[in-house]
Amino acid sequence: RFIGITTAPPDAILGLTEAFAADTNPQKMNLSVGVYKDASGQTPVLKCVKAAEKWLVENEKTKGYLPIDGQADYRRHVRNLIFGDCVESDRVSVVQTPGGTGALRVAAGFLNSQLAPIRVWISTPTWANHNAVFTSEHVPQEAYRYLADDKKSFDLDGMIDDLTNNTRPGDAVLLHACCHNPTGVDPTAEQWDQIASVVAEKRLLPIIDFAYQGFGNGLAEDTVAVRAILKVCDEAIVCSSFSKNFGLYSERVGAISILSGDAEMAGAVQSQLKTLVRSNYSNPPRHGAAVVATILDDADLTQMWHDELTEMRTRIKRLRQQFVETMKKTGKGHDFGFLLDQNGMFSFSGLNKMQVDELKNKHSIYIVGSGRINVAGMSEDRMDQLCAAIADVIEN
Ligand code: PMP
Repeated sequence: RFIGITTAPPDAILGLTEAFAADTNPQKMNLSVGVYKDASGQTPVLKCVKAAEKWLVENEKTKGYLPIDGQADYRRHVRNLIFGDCVESDRVSVVQTPGGTGALRVAAGFLNSQLAPIRVWISTPTWANHNAVFTSEHVPQEAYRYLADDKKSFDLDGMIDDLTNNTRPGDAVLLHACCHNPTGVDPTAEQWDQIASVVAEKRLLPIIDFAYQGFGNGLAEDTVAVRAILKVCDEAIVCSSFSKNFGLYSERVGAISILSGDAEMAGAVQSQLKTLVRSNYSNPPRHGAAVVATILDDADLTQMWHDELTEMRTRIKRLRQQFVETMKKTGKGHDFGFLLDQNGMFSFSGLNKMQVDELKNKHSIYIVGSGRINVAGMSEDRMDQLCAAIADVIEN
């Protein structure tokens, strides 16, 4: 029966991790996977998370199932963090999901079960899993222009042109709220207003992927895209994740939030989301969401989280600065100044596939084939080594 099953291609990024593990060069460097690392090269458990876990060990009373749509306190906190008081809370259906990927998958299922036929427009380039998730739920996809030909800047005109002239009213559009993956290139507040008005005029359904709140310019500042959309659209979907901003990667903590026109519609939407979850993973995992809710229920722990998040964000910005300056010196004057305008963990280096391969084969430095670099994986101490290697592959 299984005789005709062929081997699926390995995940491109996780495949690099395997190659990295097998590399015996002590000077090797992994800038491919999207996790934050501190100065010692670790992906630490935040102190606020440790404190909340300690509290939970002593006080948690059950490991019984959560409701299908998750823990109520957690859902209230998600709503506050994303929407603040921008919209009436009874118009927002929030469902706790296993990470941001789980949220996207439930969103795709919702499109398929409630809104089909519907197409989704996705930026070029995008996080590779976006396509896979919508394909899994049979949602047809189209691409809108995003990164300009110089591979450094935002193609506002291209994006507006595609959304205005190539979409059909009723199509969905997937937007990266901040820290665009893989480019790090984000629209400005004014550009978000322009994008939002096209979305509203064309009656597109915005699906906002919000995986990096707090990694761009701050928790409130990073809601700029959400606020621009909410000003002009009365329906929207937000898929959010606490993997990065709480460092809870493996605990799988995320949410899908759907804004409806009124409370009655929101109730119907919530019930449909629960139906989708029930036949998929039945109900979400408890621990990560309990950690987040414990922190956000407590003023001191919340302050501790804000401080730790600020530390992560400012460290990434410092690394960008140091990289650009070191490229100028060690890197024989190569100008990477465009990295300073970009946000979040990732940037497009502009290196081509051959240069990426050479970086790996000759210098044991691993970045993604597209040229995406995880800035958050760089280390202060080894910046000279990194920049000299990049200069070497550019010049050869
Ligand atoms: N969206 C984007 C743009 C991402 O980069 C990621 C994580 N790499 C996710 C969603 C999914 O996050 P999670 O790990 O919480 O599933």
